[in-house]
Amino acid sequence: MQAPNPTDFFDVRSLLSDEERIVQETVARFVDEKALPIIPKAFAEHRFPRELVPELASMGLLGSTLQGYGCAGINNICYGLACQELERGDSGIRSFVSVQSSLVMWPIYTYGSEEQKERWLPALAKAEAIGCFGLTESHGGSDPGAMHTHAKKQGGDWVINGSKMWITNGTLADVALVWARTEDGVRGFLVEKGTPGFEARDIKNKFSLRASVTSELYFDNVRVPADNMLPGAEGLKGPLGCLTQARYGITWGAIGAAIACFREVLEFSQTRTLFERPITHTQTVQRRLAEMVRRITTAQLLSLQLGRLKDQGRMHPSQVSLAKWNNVRMALDIARDARDLLGGGGITIEYCPIRHMLNLESVVTYEGTETVHELVIGRELTGVNAF
Ligand SMILES: Cc1cc2nc3c(=O)[nH]c(=O)nc-3n(C[C@H](O)[C@H](O)[C@H](O)COP(=O)(O)OP(=O)(O)OC[C@H]3O[C@@H](n4cnc5c(N)ncnc54)[C@H](O)[C@@H]3O)c2cc1C
Repeated sequence: MQAPNPTDFFDVRSLLSDEERIVQETVARFVDEKALPIIPKAFAEHRFPRELVPELASMGLLGSTLQGYGCAGINNICYGLACQELERGDSGIRSFVSVQSSLVMWPIYTYGSEEQKERWLPALAKAEAIGCFGLTESHGGSDPGAMHTHAKKQGGDWVINGSKMWITNGTLADVALVWARTEDGVRGFLVEKGTPGFEARDIKNKFSLRASVTSELYFDNVRVPADNMLPGAEGLKGPLGCLTQARYGITWGAIGAAIACFREVLEFSQTRTLFERPITHTQTVQRRLAEMVRRITTAQLLSLQLGRLKDQGRMHPSQVSLAKWNNVRMALDIARDARDLLGGGGITIEYCPIRHMLNLESVVTYEGTETVHELVIGRELTGVNAF
């Protein structure tokens, strides 16, 4: 009997279709050959490696699960595997793809008018346009219902006032999908770069997601035509629907970050000799490595089943919450433990765990903190909203 592959202990690969395997291999090659050689430096320089974007587009990874409009139309397992490989490179690259695909293209596709779809989706798929998603405000991202940003109808236009905080791709974006309170509840608006009164500013000096752009958005009497409102999204369920899409991809991405850390520490610990034997010859190191594999394997099976449910149209948002909570916590714990097993060297950029660990501090917070996901599941179990 063949020994299990350390990073695919339950042979999840054998459960994949040929197409799913090809997508994974293609993205893995891109990450190994194009992303990993530049990512540590980009992270150190606090720079988003924009030079990778054209190839992300040419591989069909932007809006990849959508049908038509120049999108690839692959299934959700393919998309998940792509997220896993991208985040094996860096959470910043996966975040870029998640935002463009799940938080900008998916809502335009799902809630947009035909005109909005034709105008934006082909350009976003080709990366001729970049998008961002503005929901969070400075007074509390976990409670989007408390948003202050508002839009008022004036003649045939909407006038938007307010601000948004922690917005991925904000200063890169040609179009911002902005959620604002109106007399009829929360609605989504497409605001183009250069619209008078709209300004984006980078948030500098982050210690996490340094290879990603995070921005603040400001709206000072920003006037957009009525046609820029997404007709199909009414109330908070509009943006929350987008978050379910993005969280699904994150469940896979976290596995990639964990695998990167595990691989590096497995190799290191086999050659690190202390007290005259490699540290893998000690029980505690073996237990720590075994624990990493146990948790990676559980996460792989969770995301695979989640993806199958999504492809069958049966995925419930609380299932996504459970997987996001489990898998990101798993990856963060593994990154921290791998950092420790690397000793002092583990604090340098020469090894990936500290970079992944720092990135995962954002990933565990954005798209719903752990507490938020626990409360989503608690509400599902008890029928009581305890937020
Ligand atoms: C790098 C980065 C990129 C981001 N990108 C985007 C983006 O592109 N678009 C966007 O809209 N947002 C984005 N965000 C925002 C992100 O979604 C929010 O940071 C997140 O929702 C948490 O909001 P907050 O930071 O305001 O924390 P808060 O909501 O203020 O939470 C503070 C603490 O309170 C806890 N808490 C919350 N509710 C409860 C409760 N009921 N009971 C007990 N404790 C509770 C939380 O778990 C947390 O520990 C990004 C954030 C980061 C860090």
